[in-house]
Amino acid sequence: ATPTAVMVGTGVGASQGVLIKGGQALESAHKVNCIVFDKTGTLTIGKPVVVNTRLLKTMVLREFYELVAATEVNSEHPVAKAIVEYAKKFREDEENPAWPEAQDFKSITGHGVKAIVRNKELIVGNKSLMLEENISIPVDAEEILEETEGLAQTGILIAIDGELVGVLAISDPLKPGAGEVISILKSMKVRSIMVTGDNWGTANSIAKEVGIDTIIAEAKPEHKAEKVKELQASGYIVAMVGDGINDSPALVAADVGMAIGAGTDIAIEAADIVLMKSNLEDVITAIDLSRKTFLRIR
Ligand code: ADP
Ligand code: MG
Repeated sequence: ATPTAVMVGTGVGASQGVLIKGGQALESAHKVNCIVFDKTGTLTIGKPVVVNTRLLKTMVLREFYELVAATEVNSEHPVAKAIVEYAKKFREDEENPAWPEAQDFKSITGHGVKAIVRNKELIVGNKSLMLEENISIPVDAEEILEETEGLAQTGILIAIDGELVGVLAISDPLKPGAGEVISILKSMKVRSIMVTGDNWGTANSIAKEVGIDTIIAEAKPEHKAEKVKELQASGYIVAMVGDGINDSPALVAADVGMAIGAGTDIAIEAADIVLMKSNLEDVITAIDLSRKTFLRIR
């Protein structure tokens, strides 16, 4: 393609809300034959909500949520925000919930949080956090988790003073049109893969809903980048689509990194292409534009 054609292509992208950072990014996009998608905030809306509370012990919901929210209010994770938002419903003054003080707050990245509230030890997070903390998981909790994950929801476990007392079901639905994007990519001979820090059960259910058959769950940021490199080593030209800080290493490693416009600044910085409208369809817009520019398709 001539420099003029590249300039035109980049300009057309910009006018459609697809920000292409330079000619190399536009060129690489037409060779892409494999896309790695982050789950939360990329394939899903990214605004999780609490949809169910299952208590394993007799407890007053108001008191349960007071302790859990006092712990989670210190975390920036979308799951934490969902829990605090839901817990407000149990306060007299929802606008000004005035949570009790939490001491010794600790955030365990990719697992959950811990704190002392009203002299009780709270642990809130996924199953692997409970196992690390030597909290035993009773059979009924295992059953609730399985059920939750089968519904494509994430189960968050709550332990108080060393005992598992509840499971929250958190739902973060797919973006509308996500399934169509995956099937159009398939027809364009582009393979789709999903990576997520969430658990395998929930990840499998979401993947099935959206029509992706290859997934990596319980992935740390470095796993996401490793997966990209592994695909490249086996001959794929790889695009990564993500929105989070934890996607940045993979966005950099990919042949084409695409960031969701509504994502974190660090992801946008790390990407070659920014989807300003945060629409998944624009992954196809970007590849199309590149194919038109470099393959001279009309
Ligand atoms: P993702 O955002 O893709 O779910 P993360 O690595 O951020 O990936 O988190 C992985 C999992 O750890 C979450 O799905 C959740 O189960 C758990 N987790 C992380 N942070 C928290 C938190 N503040 N409270 C409860 N659970 C959490
Ligand atoms: Mg994400």
